[in-house]
Amino acid sequence: MLLGCIADDFTGATDLAGMLVRGGMRTVQTIGVPEGAPPDADAVVVSLKSRTVPAAQAVSESLAALRWLQAAGARQIFFKYCSTFDSTDAGNIGPVAQALMAALGADFTIACPAFPENGRSVYRGHLFVGDGLLNESGMENHPLTPMTDPNLVRVLQRQSSCRVGLARFDTVAQGPAALRARLQALRAEGTGIAIVDAVSNADLMTIGAACDTLPLITGGSGVALGLPANFATQGLLGDAAQAARLPAVEGAAAIVSGSCSRATNAQVAHWAAARPRFQVDPLALADGQPVVEQALAWAREHLPGQAVLISATSPPEAVAQVQSRLGVQAAGDLIEQALADIARGLVDLGVRRLVVAGGETSGAVVRALGIDQLRVGPQIDPGVPWMVADTGARAGAPLAIALKSGNFGSEDFFAKALALAGSGPR
Ligand code: ADP
Repeated sequence: MLLGCIADDFTGATDLAGMLVRGGMRTVQTIGVPEGAPPDADAVVVSLKSRTVPAAQAVSESLAALRWLQAAGARQIFFKYCSTFDSTDAGNIGPVAQALMAALGADFTIACPAFPENGRSVYRGHLFVGDGLLNESGMENHPLTPMTDPNLVRVLQRQSSCRVGLARFDTVAQGPAALRARLQALRAEGTGIAIVDAVSNADLMTIGAACDTLPLITGGSGVALGLPANFATQGLLGDAAQAARLPAVEGAAAIVSGSCSRATNAQVAHWAAARPRFQVDPLALADGQPVVEQALAWAREHLPGQAVLISATSPPEAVAQVQSRLGVQAAGDLIEQALADIARGLVDLGVRRLVVAGGETSGAVVRALGIDQLRVGPQIDPGVPWMVADTGARAGAPLAIALKSGNFGSEDFFAKALALAGSGPR
């Protein structure tokens, strides 16, 4: 293993893994800290759920991930967080970064959430989302991590005990040698973590090259764009074109959707205009009706000849109505559990190509299927690669799975995904 990554949430880990594959690294994503031997891969992304847990818990989980990655031989560690720098004055970016530095014996690292392709840029230490500052992007109203200050040097300083500094865009624009010199100067002055500006992919490549010898790098998935090249130039990577290759998967196909985002509503409508769809009724579920069994009986009528979609996806008015009857959390949990049971039933019915829509829904499905490792393959749409479960205990044969978080994907995402994965009905 060359690069060991620790990601603070599940879909962020997938996004990062897809980026590394794009750069030519064979990559495996694990769900939590693995117990067994490391997989055969150039990079492993350990996905935690540590973004909003108490800082002490985030630190101890991240250190456990680090110990496993070190034992597996990782030469460099990458700590991945959200490109909107989701955190509070209590953490968890600062405390986790500092704990990893201490454990690695490192006195310096960088922090860069920039992902210009997705509209996240850092300029003079300030994080922009599209054309506006972070604190005017809607993130100021986030229920758990409201981001009300766009100045990342200040934001990170408030949650760190070491000194936080800045490497500005004008230095980054001069290339790796200039940036390396600036980072060395910051370090010599006693800076522990440097925010680094980046407004383009070229900047991310410069950052990657300038940080080739740092034991720890922290950032969004964008920074990972510049990391594979360091290993490639040392001749440590195989044929880049092969990195996205997955084992061949054949069999019935299904889509399970619990996301109610605008994008997913449009994707479900697009699919349902021409193909089979079963709609889960949350109120019938709450009533104790055998909705899971009904959904699976319906699926049996179509599988394996046709791909099926089973969804709870609904427009905002319908969601609000269900939430006012059942409560927001209770409705969410009930539907996630039902969709996870349905996904397990579909795999038992022989489904081997499964698309799941919704971040929380994906987490519930992956848990229900007992998946603990996913080999990451080609991108379907930005941020959503196909993956194959290495150790899905239930599947018996490899299971291809794509996990789409809410707003990702084009309108024809589901059909596009199935057309890309293995063989079988689309
Ligand atoms: P996204 O990635 O779009 O945020 P998630 O799966 O993370 O999707 O979250 C969607 C949440 O909405 C889940 O908890 C899901 O169970 C819940 N949900 C799905 N359908 C409905 C519905 N019809 N009414 C109320 N809640 C729903």
